[in-house]
Amino acid sequence: MKILVSDTLAPEALEKLHSTEGFEVQVKTGMSPDELKQVIRDKDALIVRSATKVTKEILESAENLKVIARAGVGLDNVDVETAKSKGIQVVNTPGGTSISVTELALALMLATARHIPRADLSLKKGLWEKKKLGGVELYGKTLGIIGLGRIGSAVAERARAFGMKIIAYDPYVKEAAHRLVSLDELLADSDYVTIHIPLTAETSNLLSKAQFDTMKTGAVLINCARGGIVDEEALYEVLSNGKLRYAAFDVFKNEPPFPTKLLELDNFIATPHIGASTREGQVRVGVEAAEKVIQILRR
Ligand code: NAD
Repeated sequence: MKILVSDTLAPEALEKLHSTEGFEVQVKTGMSPDELKQVIRDKDALIVRSATKVTKEILESAENLKVIARAGVGLDNVDVETAKSKGIQVVNTPGGTSISVTELALALMLATARHIPRADLSLKKGLWEKKKLGGVELYGKTLGIIGLGRIGSAVAERARAFGMKIIAYDPYVKEAAHRLVSLDELLADSDYVTIHIPLTAETSNLLSKAQFDTMKTGAVLINCARGGIVDEEALYEVLSNGKLRYAAFDVFKNEPPFPTKLLELDNFIATPHIGASTREGQVRVGVEAAEKVIQILRR
């Protein structure tokens, strides 16, 4: 059985594949679509992260392919419909990076509370802006969590340890350890709002001008879920006019997000979609993807 790994996988995952009898593993990253079309021709399995785009054209060249594994959550880079129509199983590893994303959401929340990026930049410029950089505590503040799944729940658990009051909006969760409220109520009552839902037709532009208008003046918005859930134009307005005190985003409608006026704002903190990018998270998703492929091919 032949397995192609076309994006960088953690060494532990490659070791798992190499040490399993009966599999021939080829690791080739950074291929052009034409090159991939050739290389995939005789492969039984393909393992990707997010760089490889598994398009209809690529799938049409795959004569033996039985399974595609995405080491990560989203399947945005795989044409799942075409794969299914060809009887190719598509699997992902949804839970492996939950803790990594959770910790980034908390890091961003703390970064806004204490102006950490601004403080770091100003000190490195030779300034001592102790007075200007006074912050706030998370303690006692209300955190509104949109989406109480794996990551949302893990954020809640940790934020509670900071002494935050937790409320959550998730119409698909019926019972929770945290107070479930409507979206309107969440937006009106939260000092911090953090988003942990998928991007779907229903959640596209879920937060736009009308929703921002109902938020507390001085509230903070964190998005480590997906770009497109928040209307970035409307966000620019409410950050510029002070309605929102801060926003911190790991994800953007277009990635990389150039040009984006948001990046010009002092009260906007940005990271380049690094939520899942931790050593531990990548080992977990790589090994899980390898194990799923081995299991499916054996079957
Ligand atoms: P999950 O499936 O465990 O939880 C998602 C939750 O969202 C579910 O409880 C679901 O009921 C809820 N939900 C769905 N539609 C909703 C809606 N319209 N309104 C409110 N709630 C809704 O997913 P997860 O593992 O917790 O991941 C959450 C999101 O984080 C993912 O969808 C993914 O886009 C994102 N993510 C980002 C990174 C990153 O690198 N920044 C990495 C992994 C995941």
